[in-house]
Amino acid sequence: MAEETQGNNTNPKQDTNTSTETNTNPNRKPNQNRNNQNKPKASGNRNKNRYRKQPITVDANLKEFVTKNQEVHKQRLNPHYKLDLNSRAKIRVTPLGGLGEIGGNITVFETQNEAILVDVGMSFPDEDMHGVDILVPDFSYLREIRKKIVAVIITHAHEDHIGAMPYLFKEMQFPVYATPLPLAMIGNKFDEHHLKEHKKYFNPIEKRKIYKIGNDFEIEWMHMTHSILDSSSLAITTDSGTIIHTGDFKIDHTPVDGYTADIHRLAYYGDKGVLCLLSDSTNSHNPIATPSELSVAPALDRVFSKAEGRILLSTFSSNIHRVYQAIQYGIKYGRKICVIGRSMERNIEIAMAYDYIRFPKNIFIDADEVARMSDKEVLIVTTGSQGEANSALFRMSIGEHRHIKIKPTDLIVLSSRAIPGNEGSISGMMNHLQRAGAKVCMDKDIHVSGHASMEEQKLMIRLCNPKFFLPVHGEYNHVMKHKETGMMCGIPERNILIMTDGEQIEIAPKFMRKVKTVKTGKTYIDNQNNHQIEDDIILDRQKLASDGIVMMVVEVDSKHSKMTTKPRVTTFGLVPDKRDKAFAKEMEDVVEHYLLHIKDGMLENTRALENDLRQVVRKHIYRRMKKYPLIVPHILVS
Ligand SMILES: [Zn+2]
Repeated sequence: MAEETQGNNTNPKQDTNTSTETNTNPNRKPNQNRNNQNKPKASGNRNKNRYRKQPITVDANLKEFVTKNQEVHKQRLNPHYKLDLNSRAKIRVTPLGGLGEIGGNITVFETQNEAILVDVGMSFPDEDMHGVDILVPDFSYLREIRKKIVAVIITHAHEDHIGAMPYLFKEMQFPVYATPLPLAMIGNKFDEHHLKEHKKYFNPIEKRKIYKIGNDFEIEWMHMTHSILDSSSLAITTDSGTIIHTGDFKIDHTPVDGYTADIHRLAYYGDKGVLCLLSDSTNSHNPIATPSELSVAPALDRVFSKAEGRILLSTFSSNIHRVYQAIQYGIKYGRKICVIGRSMERNIEIAMAYDYIRFPKNIFIDADEVARMSDKEVLIVTTGSQGEANSALFRMSIGEHRHIKIKPTDLIVLSSRAIPGNEGSISGMMNHLQRAGAKVCMDKDIHVSGHASMEEQKLMIRLCNPKFFLPVHGEYNHVMKHKETGMMCGIPERNILIMTDGEQIEIAPKFMRKVKTVKTGKTYIDNQNNHQIEDDIILDRQKLASDGIVMMVVEVDSKHSKMTTKPRVTTFGLVPDKRDKAFAKEMEDVVEHYLLHIKDGMLENTRALENDLRQVVRKHIYRRMKKYPLIVPHILVS
């Protein structure tokens, strides 16, 4: 729990700088000594003499202004003075996803009577979640507070912020507030999931305008630069004060569309007083400022200028500005553009339809026209930069794409980085591409991140000047590093909390504390039919994959508690075929031994009998093989 901040505890270093600098700054002292030592003695004496002859006279008036300015700094930097400490209002913040993981972002902000959700994202499964395509946050807590929820607020259109919307809306609907691009992309999802009618809940918003939502919330969307267009930070004001939620961001001073991050509005709130900041921690380990999206241009130009045959560029389909830049250089070198991949086609279409980007229509060609063009006249923009098995580029790499076969003169440009966990599949795809003879370019300068690094995180903290700080959006180590950066920027440690999914934090002008934990988790989704897969199915699949299965049919004569025939035993993934017979014999012995010592009356209850036998067989197999296969006994009692 974080306690009340006292008036003198913000930026203690700055407050004390003037009076104690030489005593407390460990860096400066040795330097000064070294300088003195290095100087010739005579000159040192001369300096001493000069100082002695001309002592500094302190002008009382100047000194007074130093004190006044110190007070100004204190007032300016200490958010304590700007909050209404008499207010008894409180707000609760509960992340239901997005912490301790990358993806699945969803956070509840809750007053006494009302609640809003910020973002409803999805995430991707681990390799051991067999047959699962996406993960959706567990909505249990939302079911609990359903009546309180007045709106869904969206920061930007990345899948890890909007991907779970259809799954939420299949169950419960609320008004959705967002800028146009996120709404267009959610609308597209609703179309795919046959939820067209739910688009009536959409409320497009204008940036820099304050919207009253429910009775308790006032929200402003502030433009942010990120790896997708039309991103926003949020200023969420309730009776307890203003909370700034950065959403995903970087501070790009030269964005492709010229729309810089609205740092003026952030500064406005910072000056007015911010209760709490929730800020993006993704790149908190990176000390070097994240380069501008525009910085990719020279590398694209260089690579494109040297290409002798076709160019195939792959990037995240949501990174419209990257695609835009690639297409521009394609045009510069006289190439026609062929867009391949469902999400890429759809995103470019939406961005053009809503006037976020503009191209002459005649520059685009269809995939079946590529073969008729000269290689030097073609730029293919496609999905698959993560080596996804169902992506267009991957299918091309293994020669299974209907229209595009990889040629030795092709240049493949991967304008992306590997999302942790995808390194293997990317490497596999590169092997395929190179085996087909193509050149693969994945230079570092051909991609930049969309997330703020340390320096931009510092700028965000300084702009908002919050009393409390909640680093969000990242795994535990990212969030911890961001906490350190926050402390460097003068936020006292007790005013920073590290949240995990499901932890409910209560914030009031006087305190911030953890109050309880609510249920969280993931729901497994099969993308083939967009349906949920129950947890026990995944557990069974994991067991099958790692330890195999044993099925046995046992016929028992109830009078004599004896098997009437040998048990039929079938196994998969546990013993090799050549040991099948020996294993069946082993099982026969186990069952026989079990029947010898069976309790009275057991044979009358088949279900209990099967359970009991399963335990016995499990124990035996574990003792022998250190494995826990699925065991399926069928007992027929006659
Ligand atoms: Zn994002």
